[in-house]
Order: sequence, then structure tokens, then C-alpha cells
Amino acid sequence: MTKNIQIHIPGFPRIGAKRELKQALESHWRGDTPAEALEQTGRELRARHWALQRDAGLDFVTVGDFAFYDQVANHIQLFGCEPARFAFDPATPPLQRYFAMARGVGKNIDGNGDAPAACGNPACAGHAAEAGANANANADAAADASAGHAEHSAHAGQSEQSGHEGHHGAALEMTKWFDTNYHYLVPEFSPLTRFELAGERLLAEVAEAQALGHAVKAVLLGPLTFLWLGKSKRAGFDRLSLLQQLLPVYGALLDRLKTLGVSWVQIDEPILGLDLPGDWRNAFDPTYWQLNQVGVPLLLATYFSPLEENLSLACRLPVAGLHVDGVRAAHELTSIADWLPHHKVLSVGIVDGRNIWRTDLDAALAALAPLLAKRGGKLWLSTSCSLLHVPFSLAEEDQLDAEVRGWLACATEKLAELALLQHTLAGADTAAALQQSRLAIAGRRASARVHNGAVAARLAALPADADRRQAPFAARQTAQRERLRLPLFPTTTIGSFPQTAAIRAARAGFKRGELDAGQYRSAMRAEIADAVRRQEALGLDVLVHGEAERNDMVEYFGEQLDGFAFTRYGWVQSYGSRCVKPPLIFGDVARPRAMTVDWTVHAQSLTARPMKGMLTGPITILQWSFVRDDQPRAQTALQLALAIRDEVADLERAGIAIIQIDEPAVREGLPLRRGRWDDYLGWATRAFRVAAGAAADTTQIHTHMCYAEFNDILPQIAAMDADVITIETSRSDMELLNGFGQFRYPNEIGPGVYDIHSPRVPDAAEMVRLLRKASAVIPAGNLWVNPDCGLKTRGWAETEAALRHMVAAARRLRAEQ
Ligand code: GLN
Ligand code: ZN
Repeated sequence: MTKNIQIHIPGFPRIGAKRELKQALESHWRGDTPAEALEQTGRELRARHWALQRDAGLDFVTVGDFAFYDQVANHIQLFGCEPARFAFDPATPPLQRYFAMARGVGKNIDGNGDAPAACGNPACAGHAAEAGANANANADAAADASAGHAEHSAHAGQSEQSGHEGHHGAALEMTKWFDTNYHYLVPEFSPLTRFELAGERLLAEVAEAQALGHAVKAVLLGPLTFLWLGKSKRAGFDRLSLLQQLLPVYGALLDRLKTLGVSWVQIDEPILGLDLPGDWRNAFDPTYWQLNQVGVPLLLATYFSPLEENLSLACRLPVAGLHVDGVRAAHELTSIADWLPHHKVLSVGIVDGRNIWRTDLDAALAALAPLLAKRGGKLWLSTSCSLLHVPFSLAEEDQLDAEVRGWLACATEKLAELALLQHTLAGADTAAALQQSRLAIAGRRASARVHNGAVAARLAALPADADRRQAPFAARQTAQRERLRLPLFPTTTIGSFPQTAAIRAARAGFKRGELDAGQYRSAMRAEIADAVRRQEALGLDVLVHGEAERNDMVEYFGEQLDGFAFTRYGWVQSYGSRCVKPPLIFGDVARPRAMTVDWTVHAQSLTARPMKGMLTGPITILQWSFVRDDQPRAQTALQLALAIRDEVADLERAGIAIIQIDEPAVREGLPLRRGRWDDYLGWATRAFRVAAGAAADTTQIHTHMCYAEFNDILPQIAAMDADVITIETSRSDMELLNGFGQFRYPNEIGPGVYDIHSPRVPDAAEMVRLLRKASAVIPAGNLWVNPDCGLKTRGWAETEAALRHMVAAARRLRAEQ
């Protein structure tokens, strides 16, 4: 009987089983409910989530993972480093200041009640989380539209990139939390930054949990990770130089936590899983030597990535315990168990916090056995990382296929798994529960729903050159020019047109069964006809059908492919009040029938101009889904690629001459460690090429990517070999294009000439200026003219006005040639 095994979690989802926090936040932001009502919701959610942890048998509840917007933003207030540019009146209540930092104040509010549109903010066109199968589960569908992905920081786009640096009310920049789809608010650091223990919220929450009778483990971001995640607001300023000033504040905080009597403080330093510069690595020893003096037991937590060269450093830091990601760093567990001094606690994140599969408990027990032996029982069990990244629970998923449901575990089910592991290791009789889990695992492994022999056979027989077009780009370009006869500076759009209330209503009505398939089809065909008419009137050269029938660029395809499942309530926080509901890829992906041909052919029949087919690429589908863990991601990507490849072939056969395969998520799939980039980029770009590879030389393949730092992966973007790439560039004032120019990017490019995240309509002169800038770096014959991204979140009036100016700008450039 082993007594020392304790169980805990690095963090729990805060949004609520029914997204109660979202409703409360949005109601408060609309001005419908006072701050006290919001605070009350926060207290209730915390109380409920702590009770779940205690009732599941966890040895501590985790306090400090709650946030009204974002946990990093909480630390900005906690450490009193709200950027001075906000010039807050000291009388402004902290919560009001908090939302001002998160959402901006004054002129940059976009009228939609949330932060200025970023991609990943309201407007990134592709990835909506509208309704799913059940309308009443999604009453706020529209409010969730297109959350999800935003490497790019909208907020930054509005301040610095467009030259408004210093606009005092612009929201903090937002960026992706490591390699997740969660976005945090970026702290701003400068030589003027000062820290002080300013926020009482964390301490109050600890007291709150204690008052409810819980044993508390408080959680904090570590000082090095906090500084790392921030951004230097002065060129050349090294934010690490703030460490000496920050440490005493951490010390004071730890002291307060100790006085409150917390059992443990979990201090998160996930940057130990990154390629760290030497000065950052070296800072760990003195930092933890200092923090450890306070005398409260510290559990140093790492996650998302193996420790690699930081392994021995992490093991020898003077703290009471170390948490490691037992899923992504599973291969390091043995060395960690060897290196970590015996008096320290080893917390092994054995249950996957990043995916929704049921844990293979036999495999987990087998992996834990040698660790247990080595650690003399001084072992804790945990989830690999905070459960923030998985949905709340399966309890309400009554529409999910029962077999598939049995293979899954969301946040609450993962708590139960931890308890089961703990009981088993402590010698309790858990045979029945283990057997049930074993059956589910075996069932999944053997299920005919997972394995499709035809898919396997096709993959095995895939010719090595399936990822090659027939001719090299130069020859294809000639053939396509011959066929398409487009003018110089051809104009097009990225795919979606405004998703009007009528379109949403029709889609929702169809899902609820109020419209039959025939009625829905006619409604969508009418929308397509309307979009075509408007584009012809505007004089655009390459048209699109407008994506009226798509709720979300991934879900639309997933719903038509074999191997996908969808939850009703599987929401995961993306940022602030926004959530996404990622599809679940559980089995071999196959395409039973064409997915877009009917709509596209209809659209093409209405115009003599080329109609661009519109598909989502394999990497984007992969990246924005929960992906199976029983085969490498590369394999799933390839299966997706084959499905898209078939769609390309069908579109081509139906006479479509231009096909766009969107890949906005390629960059966000990059592994955290540089050493793994080549591997990922190798299979990811190959998957794209396989998707496109069946196209004849006369078919023009486009791809589209949203704003992202492309410069370090330009060779791989070029290796995707799309005939045309459209990218988001306007907010960088075309600066992003310089890299493409220097690299001598060989194929055609459409740099976005206006920002679709704002309702503002730039005039033609402004777009002409950007296009002239573009033609200084890219040969004019290779340039396209298009907006930054899709237009689904905009209204028709502003869309038509902006596109009219865009067409005029292209014409002016043609006349200059
Ligand atoms: N074709 C998609 C659209 O226009 C692309 C969206 C995206 O890049 N995120 O909506
Ligand atoms: Zn885009």
C-alpha cells in the first residue's frame, strides 16, 4: 500500500459547463449587469469547480487558474504593471481597468462590443464557432463567430503596425499561448516598468477556497515565464533586466500565500520547454534560490514540451517539487526520475490535458510503475497541463455517438481518471473500473469506425510523386495565362462574403429542421446568385461563390467527411469570452462524396468570369480539430490531404479553372522547439502538395494564409508551390512582403490591400500606394489584388465600397504599366 501518491491538476477550465462566464461577461460588457453580478458568477463558478475537484478525490484544489479574461492579464494587475499608456485614473476600479486593458478603450472599440477585431478576434473570417447541431445550445452563436486562431495580434495591428503607437487606449496585444489555440494578453515592459504587489484577487480567492474548507494549492506564473511572455516596448530593451525588480514582489506574494496557509504554490515555468537563450536559462538558478527562501513549498510546473537540455536544470532547481508533462515528455520520465533529488516531489502529468481521449490506464500504470519504485512512492499524479484546453465534460453529450463517446474524456472525466490511477496504485480494488476502461480502449483500437481499409490501401499505394504537379511553376504559369486571360493585377477576394442575418437564420432553420433540404438549397443558391451579381457589378476578375453555406471553414468539411464527430457543448476558451468547439477526428478520414462541387458549379453557371473553388487545407483542418492520438499527426494530415485532393479533382472535372486551398493555420502548427520544425514543415507542406497535386497544369491553385510572421518559413511556403498565395499584409503596411521579395518568392502573390478587421473603408489612393509598394518588391506580373482575408464578418455596404475602391486601384495600376 503506497500512501504518498497525491493527485492534483495544473488548472481547470473557467468558462463553465454551460459557458456561464461567457454569458456573464457579455452581459456585463453590454452594460446589462453590474460588476457585482459578474463577481458573483465568478465566485459560483470557482466554488463549483473546486467542489468537483474535491469530490473527485483530488488532494488539493487549484486556486489562481480563474480569470475574467486571461490568466496573464491577471498577473499584470497582480504585479502592478498596467502599462502607463492607459493613464488610468487611480479611482478607476481594478476590474474596469482590467477590461480596459483587455478590450481597449475609446476609439479602437469596433462597435461590436468586444475588442477590436483581430484575426482570432471577431473577424478572422474562417473559423467560426457558430451553432453546431443544436441551436439552443448556441444561442449566442454569432458572438462566437470566428474566434479561434490568431497568431497575429489584432490589437497590435491597430496600434503599432498602422502607426498609432502610443494610442493610449488600444487594447493589449493578444497572442497564442505556446502552441495552443488559447490567446493571452501580452504584458508590456519598458525601462519605466515598476512592479508592486498590487492585486488582492489571488489572495482573496485563496481565502475563498479555504473558507469553503478546501486544501489549497495556489498557482502562479513563474517570473521568468511572465517576463518572457511580455514584450519590450523600447527597441533594444531587455525585459530580463526587470527580473531583479520583480523578484522581491514575488517574494512578498509568496510570503502572503504562506501566511494564508496554502499547502503548495505551483509556479508555472513552461518556457523550460523552449529553446531558451543562455541568459534566460542562467537566470533560473538564482531566481529559484531566492524564491525558495520564503519557505512555502514550490511545485515548479513545466508542460507542453520536453525539457531536453533544460532537464538537469529543472531537476536541480531549489524547489520542493517538479511537475512535468508526462504525455509530451513521456520519453524523459525515466531520466527525470533519476535526476530529481529524492526529497523532491515528482508530479507526473500522465493524463493528457491537450486532447480528449480516454487515458489508456494500463499503459499509464505500466509507465508509472518504475517511477514509483524509483521515487519511493513520492509521486504525484496530474494532467499534463491545465485542463483549460479541453471541454468541460461529456455529461451532456447525449447526441454524440455512444461508441465514440465511450472513447473520450473531457476535464471532469479526467479528474476521475486521476482518482482511479491513485486508488489503483494505493492498492485499492479497482478491477471493475479498470476493466471498463480497458474495454473502451480495446474497443477503440479495434473499431471498424476507426479503421478504413480502403484509406490504408490508398495511402500505401500513394506514388512518391503524388505531391508534384506535372510541370514546374513557370510552365504552369504560361498555361494558366493562356487559359484564364486575366488582366495584369487581377482582382479577387479571399472567399467569404458577409454572413447576413438571413443566411444565419436559414442555416439555423435548416439545422433545426424548419427548412427542408430543398428549401435550404434554394435559399443558399439565391445567396450565391446575389454574391455573383454583386461581384460582376464591381468588376472583379476572379469571383467566389461567397461561402454562404459554411458556418465554419473546418466544420463544413468535417461534417461531410468520414472519421469526424462533433460535440454539442465541447467549448474551449479561445480568449476572453470567446470559445471554439473543435471537431473531433477519431478515425480514418475519407470523403464519401463531393463536398463543394454543387455550389461551385452553380456559381460558375451564373457568370462568364472564372469562379474560384474554395477548400480548406489539410493542415488547417488538423490544427483546428482534436486529433486522434493513435497515429502520427502526419498520417492524419495525409488522409485529409487525399480527401481534399479528390475534391480538387472533382472541381476540375466540373470545369472549375481556379481552386483555392486555404491554409491559414500552417504557421501555428510549428512545434515549440526549433529542432522539430523541419520534420513538421516537411510533412505539412507535403500534405498541401498532395491535396493540390492532382490538378492539371492549366488549373490554377491558390492558397491563403492570414497574418503571420512568414519570414522564417519562406522556403517551406515556397515549397508548397501554390500558383498563387494570398496573404494578409495591409496592417503591416506591406512590410511583410519584403521577405517574399528578398527571398525572390517565385510564384504569384496577392498581398492584402485592405484590412478586413475594421469597418473602415480605405480609399483607392491608399490601396494604390500599397500596391506601388508591393510592385517595388514583387514583379508586377506576379501580383494579385485582394483584401487581407475573407469578408464574412463585414456588412455588404462597407464590403462593396471597399471592393469598388480596390478595383479602381487595380485599374489605375494597370494604366501605369
Ligand atoms: N476562405 C476563407 C474565408 O474567406 C478564408 C478564411 C481564413 O483565412 N481564415 O472566409
Ligand atoms: Zn485569412
